[in-house]
Amino acid sequence: MTNKADTIIVGGGVIGSSIAYNLLNDGFTGKIVVLEKDRIYEFASTPRSAGGFRQLYTTDVNVQLSRYSLQVYKDFSKNMAVDNEEVEIDFKQRGYLFLATEEMMPRFEKHLKLQHRNGVSSQLLVKDELLDIIPELNIDDLAGGLFCSESGYLDPYSVMQGYIKCAKKLGAEYVYEEVDSLLIEQDQIKGVRLVDGHEYYAPVVINCAGAWAAILSEKANLPLPVVPLPRQIFQFDVEKPLQKYLPLTMDPTGVYFRHEGEKFIAGYAEELEPKIDFSWKRSAFIENIWPIIAHRISNFERAKIERGWAGLYDFNTKDHNAILGQYPSIKGYYVSFGFSGHGMQQAPAVGKCLSELIRTGKYETLDLTPLRVERFAENQLVIEDAIY
Ligand SMILES: Cc1cc2nc3c(=O)[nH]c(=O)nc-3n(C[C@H](O)[C@H](O)[C@H](O)COP(=O)(O)OP(=O)(O)OC[C@H]3O[C@@H](n4cnc5c(N)ncnc54)[C@H](O)[C@@H]3O)c2cc1C
Repeated sequence: MTNKADTIIVGGGVIGSSIAYNLLNDGFTGKIVVLEKDRIYEFASTPRSAGGFRQLYTTDVNVQLSRYSLQVYKDFSKNMAVDNEEVEIDFKQRGYLFLATEEMMPRFEKHLKLQHRNGVSSQLLVKDELLDIIPELNIDDLAGGLFCSESGYLDPYSVMQGYIKCAKKLGAEYVYEEVDSLLIEQDQIKGVRLVDGHEYYAPVVINCAGAWAAILSEKANLPLPVVPLPRQIFQFDVEKPLQKYLPLTMDPTGVYFRHEGEKFIAGYAEELEPKIDFSWKRSAFIENIWPIIAHRISNFERAKIERGWAGLYDFNTKDHNAILGQYPSIKGYYVSFGFSGHGMQQAPAVGKCLSELIRTGKYETLDLTPLRVERFAENQLVIEDAIY
């Protein structure tokens, strides 16, 4: 094995693997090495994700990323088959539903216009219409909701494995080693040094190291406003099943829930300190989630918690959106992180567009320049009104 490549990708999660796949699938003929420190992806964010997919965003760029990704996910199983073996990603298009209080409705009406302008089939529902979607819902304190039937949830681990298999099939080389630092000479990236001291060289290095990405960048004095932020998810069961399968449902409190097989998962945007921590606490479910979901759906009063887990958001502290593209002062150093809890749904579009940027120097499919690194210095933040 030689340690020279044309492109090095640090981090082989869903983002790094989507970029590797798209580059090769789009005709990149150079050698791609993906360096991944966690061979079984035990702590990667992708397999710990809730797998929610939505188009209900409030900025054009985020809606467009989802619109493109939706088309990819719809046909993913077939199109990403390797040796005639389809990849089952379990994409359940059961909808995405934001429940709204009276006070929230005018905001949602505004969001609806932006979504329609971008081709999203979102609907503003009045109170009683919510019962068509969730017959057991307690609507006493609600005024309506914002719903998109095309969205839903999928299995993040299978998506990631689909990208990995296809990227490998097309020639990407996965090396299971940890990157210690970036190698830079003057204003040009040269490669990376591994923790074991070995070096890999390439004129292009793409940092897709998720919650660890900003730490690696900072080490080379190339800071970005992203921190690892723990988030917990809980799985529970109930005695009395619901009449219909749930959309991914977001309560006005920020607690979300959905079916997971015949059971359920739920989570919420906790206020936690940024840190690398994978512990989860049953008490967080009992104190912060259960009272809300039991109020919303009476079947959940008898919720029996079965398990939980925690994962890390690569949380962008400035505007909670992805940071994509070349780092301005360093030729060949690209970043793709800061997804702040919505990277699963953006992975197909991000892979495609970064492939274009790296191969041709410009975006073609979607204009992702609003998410450029320079936006912080230029004070051109991309502010989303709907991030959890
Ligand atoms: C609890 C939770 C719920 C979520 N829910 C949703 C959701 O509903 N919908 C949605 O769209 N998104 C959701 N997300 C976010 C989504 O999971 C992430 O945005 C996405 O998985 C990011 O993918 P990634 O490839 O950037 O990161 P990762 O999957 O973490 O991959 C990065 C990889 O880099 C590797 N790495 C790190 N440092 C190094 C190094 N120095 N050397 C070599 N390898 C390295 C890591 O081992 C890791 O495998 C959720 C995340 C969490 C934690």
